[in-house]
Amino acid sequence: MTPIGQQPGRRELRVSRTHAFTIIEMMVVISILVLLIALLMPALSKARIHTRRMVCASNLGQLAAATTTYTNDYNGVFPPHRHCALNTGRDWFNLLEEYGNSPEVSHCPELSESQTDFGVTWGWNYDAHYIGYGYNGFFLGVYSHPGCHLTNNSITSHGIRSTRWTRISSVVEPTKLIVVGDSHPKSNGGANLGVSLTLWWPFIHSFTEGVNGTRHHDTGVVGMADGHAEIVPDVDENLHPVADGGRDNLEYWDPLQRN
Ligand SMILES: [Zn+2]
Repeated sequence: MTPIGQQPGRRELRVSRTHAFTIIEMMVVISILVLLIALLMPALSKARIHTRRMVCASNLGQLAAATTTYTNDYNGVFPPHRHCALNTGRDWFNLLEEYGNSPEVSHCPELSESQTDFGVTWGWNYDAHYIGYGYNGFFLGVYSHPGCHLTNNSITSHGIRSTRWTRISSVVEPTKLIVVGDSHPKSNGGANLGVSLTLWWPFIHSFTEGVNGTRHHDTGVVGMADGHAEIVPDVDENLHPVADGGRDNLEYWDPLQRN
């Protein structure tokens, strides 16, 4: 017969062994889970980037198609990129609301309440400054509203003249013509943020204009005049004009392809 005094000691030893075994098991399981998560994270991150890029492409394709539909009601003329006063409900994205645009369609899924582009921290909003989608305004709709007069109704840059009332019938190659694309508020290095509603081709290199090429994992997303969207790597090389004022890539911007 076991002495009564030894029973608590044996029970204590058995309980202690059980705890130690369970902790080791848990540590092994946790280690495996941590390893699995570490292995899966890059794949999940890539999937998320891909999904957001595809949603953005869908948005920009819809906006480009809405622009084409708009021209049907306005004698074939593209919408103006803005009114002379901003945020009066007459900027290009407002004018496309009847044709398929909405705040959801105009919201790139990579944009949140706070991100930084070229040293400028900003948050998405459905207005001229923070919409984050820009229109090819220099070539398609430069200040077309009555009352927004330009000298000789045109602007010249890189030896190319922009005129008002650009017609869709003048587009040489709709599959190549950028209508809208990812953009960011322009900055001259100061605290005041400029608009993001235009891609404004003439100053792409001097004021960080043009298509944003970093938002979607070093690609730029653009919507073309035939309503399809393209995901373009290295936008400075493949979409933007060169800094010295040359006409590289002008075929993607100028509906008349004057290069
Ligand atoms: Zn985007």
